[in-house]
Amino acid sequence: MKIALIGAGPRNLAILGRLLFTVNTKATYEIDLFDPQPIGGRVWDPFLTNNHAFLMNTYANQVTLFDDYELLDHETPIERPNLLTWAQTVAFDYLNDHPEYPDAYRNEVLTLISANTFASRGLFGVYAAWYFEEVQAACPKNIHIHFHQTEIIDMEKGARRFSLTGRDGFTSKYDRVVLAPGHIDNQPNKKQKELAAFAKRHSLAYFPASHPAENDFDKINENDQVLIEGLGLSFFDVILSLTGAKGGTFVTNNDGSLTYRPSGHEPHIVAGAFNGLPPRTKGVNQKESAQVYQPHFFTLKRMKEEASNNLGKISFEHFMKTLKQELTFKYLYNQVQLLKLDTGVSKASIISDLMHPERWSSINEKYGLHLDMSIDWDSLVFPAMEWPDAKTFQKNLHKHIENDIRSAKLGNDWSPLTGSYYILRDMRDTIRTLYNENYFFADGYEKMLTTFRAFDNQLSAGPPLVRMQQLLALMDAGILEIAGPGFKTSRGHSTFVATDRYGQHFEGTALIEARLSEINFNIAKSPLIQSLQKQRLIRKNDRLRKSDGSLLLGNTIKVDLKTLTVLDKNNQPVDGFFVSGIPLEGERWFNTVIPRPYVNTLIFEESKRLVEALQERHSHFHKLLQKKD
Ligand SMILES: Cc1cc2nc3c(=O)[nH]c(=O)nc-3n(C[C@H](O)[C@H](O)[C@H](O)COP(=O)(O)OP(=O)(O)OC[C@H]3O[C@@H](n4cnc5c(N)ncnc54)[C@H](O)[C@@H]3O)c2cc1C
Repeated sequence: MKIALIGAGPRNLAILGRLLFTVNTKATYEIDLFDPQPIGGRVWDPFLTNNHAFLMNTYANQVTLFDDYELLDHETPIERPNLLTWAQTVAFDYLNDHPEYPDAYRNEVLTLISANTFASRGLFGVYAAWYFEEVQAACPKNIHIHFHQTEIIDMEKGARRFSLTGRDGFTSKYDRVVLAPGHIDNQPNKKQKELAAFAKRHSLAYFPASHPAENDFDKINENDQVLIEGLGLSFFDVILSLTGAKGGTFVTNNDGSLTYRPSGHEPHIVAGAFNGLPPRTKGVNQKESAQVYQPHFFTLKRMKEEASNNLGKISFEHFMKTLKQELTFKYLYNQVQLLKLDTGVSKASIISDLMHPERWSSINEKYGLHLDMSIDWDSLVFPAMEWPDAKTFQKNLHKHIENDIRSAKLGNDWSPLTGSYYILRDMRDTIRTLYNENYFFADGYEKMLTTFRAFDNQLSAGPPLVRMQQLLALMDAGILEIAGPGFKTSRGHSTFVATDRYGQHFEGTALIEARLSEINFNIAKSPLIQSLQKQRLIRKNDRLRKSDGSLLLGNTIKVDLKTLTVLDKNNQPVDGFFVSGIPLEGERWFNTVIPRPYVNTLIFEESKRLVEALQERHSHFHKLLQKKD
């Protein structure tokens, strides 16, 4: 059987690992892996200079590529180190044997010493390359693997097989094709085209949404004022490129805070977003690689029980109420753990009362405590929307970031606030099960993709702590200014302009959209995706509709969810053609994650289903064999 894996990112690498250890040992397999970027894929390219310094947003001990999902009992001939244990053991020798990798990674592995470290994105790329060598070396004799560093620009479906064409002229036919393209770029929209033309006319610099590490800001300097649209994860990458990469340094003060020492070559930066604030930072890591929070209220069992009394569904309101109850429990529990109690009062008895939400309001009185019982999770998400004017905004912004940093320093388990935010990550598996297994009503899906996504992203998907400290240092140094909510950018007379809801006005010689392209295959730049659309081999997902009748998931490719087989224009399975990962975002909950060891991680669960389907013979196999392609 000939198998093509298009994309050499974590997803197809996980599928490759799964294939090696589960395929029929009597058959022969030719597996070709394609990507224009090195093994590991575009996000993690170790040869991109920015990726030496840009950090992963996941702790190194919580990152792996070795499939553990139901493969635990199998005798596999390889070790399965996570990124951290790999960095602490074989990585240095591997890097010495591979002088093509920059010295930055040798230096990095010498310092990547604890579970509280974030690796650089490039180091994950090196880990991926090492993983690929390991699985190749352990590969059974009946499997042959080849990596082709090229983009697949076309695929045609024949009667029996699929013909692939590479940008480098490569062509070949395959029985099975798995497309896992990750975040792909889109064709520019009208506004982006106008901004690009405007920038050209006035010799300004414009950087539309894309992968942040691929931007080249070399030409931006101290004479520029830069407007940055977005305060999310890409924003943190961008500000590092405009400051540290311009020669400035962050100095650690005695109290652990940072001071920025400018080089003099930094532009002045004005950044903003619709809600005015960056997401909450991740706390100091106190968790082992597979240590996840065990909920008391928001359990799968309880949520399924609720559904069984409600036509098999859960209302979005019940989902949020129970989830917030769990967050509040953790918030109170952590406050109790941090208390120094008088003798005579035991933490155990307070916690036993905490297990009953109806007792929460009487706990302070009963034990003579001052626990903060007034937590309102909704108002924590976008607090700046309530700040009335620019002066209040600036005053509160600084305090907000300082408080966030202070809270994060108490740790991602023990801090009352940051520890509560983190359990949103730990409970993703339950959320994913409810979402993927159809437990919501149609309006619930719409609210999950809007209200809950904003809630989750803002509280649990922020940057490493050091990035937030750097942000504060840049604000204090006067290099970076954050504008109020409602930040909007456009064209002025001869410069870019930005405004916020307070009526502030900013001008810029450069405009950077600090975000990834929207996930929407309909407007993808990729020639392969465009060709598949033209042939009507892929189609919009029409499974769910919004309240106004439009498609809720129209930006995602429609697949049979059991097998991840693509469905064509007639809703018929394209046997042997699978799509995995980011193009299914929204159909599946929170796809944009890297595998975490030993926690039934999504990518491994998905790989298992896909590989099982991939090995099945089509029901009409005998008829197919008589056809020519
Ligand atoms: C900037 C950035 C930072 C991130 N940081 C984190 C993080 O710290 N932690 C985390 O959990 N997740 C992170 N993510 C989410 C990320 O999507 C996943 O972690 C993971 O990389 C997804 O794996 P994937 O294989 O599905 O996609 P990708 O890693 O994106 O890989 C897909 C690959 O397919 C290739 N490809 C696309 N089209 C073709 C074609 N036609 N022919 C050949 N090859 C093709 C691309 O070049 C790419 O290399 C980040 C994402 C981005 C964009």
